[in-house]
Amino acid sequence: MSRFKSKYADELIANAAYIGTPGKGILAADESTGTIGKRLASINVENVESNRRALRELLFTTPGALQYLSGVILYEETLYQKTAAGKPFVELLKEGGVLTGIKVDKGTVELAGTNSETTTIGLDGLGDRCKKYYEAGARFAKWRAVLKIGANEPSELAIHENAYGLARYAVICQENGLVPIVEPEILVDGPHDIEKCAYVTERVLAACYKALNDHHAILEGTLLKPNMVTPGSDSAKVSPEAIAEHTVRALQRTVPAAVPAIVFLSGGQSEEEATVNLNAMNQTKGKKPWRLTFSYGRALQQSTLKTWGGKEENVEKAQSAFLARAKANSEATLGSYKGDAKLVEGASESLHVKDYKY
Ligand code: 13P
Repeated sequence: MSRFKSKYADELIANAAYIGTPGKGILAADESTGTIGKRLASINVENVESNRRALRELLFTTPGALQYLSGVILYEETLYQKTAAGKPFVELLKEGGVLTGIKVDKGTVELAGTNSETTTIGLDGLGDRCKKYYEAGARFAKWRAVLKIGANEPSELAIHENAYGLARYAVICQENGLVPIVEPEILVDGPHDIEKCAYVTERVLAACYKALNDHHAILEGTLLKPNMVTPGSDSAKVSPEAIAEHTVRALQRTVPAAVPAIVFLSGGQSEEEATVNLNAMNQTKGKKPWRLTFSYGRALQQSTLKTWGGKEENVEKAQSAFLARAKANSEATLGSYKGDAKLVEGASESLHVKDYKY
């Protein structure tokens, strides 16, 4: 037995650390064609390539926004798209100091014999796809595993299967120069309390780091994308301070100090909640050997999408909404957010959708 040596090790470590740069985080703009279709339908815009491209261009060309980002996750189609003026998105992002990421999983399938628990697919041919994405300019990747909390869930089978799937994916990425974002999302759906979420989060993360170790992953060249520890969606809300305390404790107990940054998903929280909770975590005292930042999809785009409404004349206003959110989250990574972005229309609206599919 020997340690895995990727020829990309130094680059992986440098890129993972860069993503955790204080004041910066990730925009998850990697909605699959089906998911972006639902978003566009909510503003009565047709799900065609030109509209998907226009939305992504609006985000990536927002004046001043890229300074708050260290990475943007794309879906395969977007990786090869260009601005209306003909500049490849990957180049535009690079010039703004932003690394390009790519969603490499192919969604989830049900695990037979379970109560609708799932595993994530996409390992076949993954090495070749990673090579191709690296050549196209991608430097990090995302793979989303999904777990749920129920009377008997997550089952040991689902925890094990998803942890080893994530670890296998992570090492294939590292062999091909992509920093893997390890994302074991525990859905917020359900009536459980915050303690239950904390317990399940610790079980799941401990399993993931055991699997990553078994697979010889270079932890310094990985990122973790977890859910925050919160009460279930059908349970009473708690304060940002309580969420921060439970989340940081669960992470302290399970995530090795070798991991450079933890990049949270928003998981259906409103834009403002996601910002305030991240801010509270960065304000807590105590051991935090990793950077705590954002990798938000819904919580960075919702008010922008609504303001845009698919209309050229609204682009500028929509871009100011995006800038406000990006800046607020940048401040939250430093624990210095003062609440000034909450008045933007739609910022406090819940974005929770039951059994959400990416
Ligand atoms: P949300 O922030 O919308 O939960 O999405 C982040 C993501 O990329 C989930 O895979």
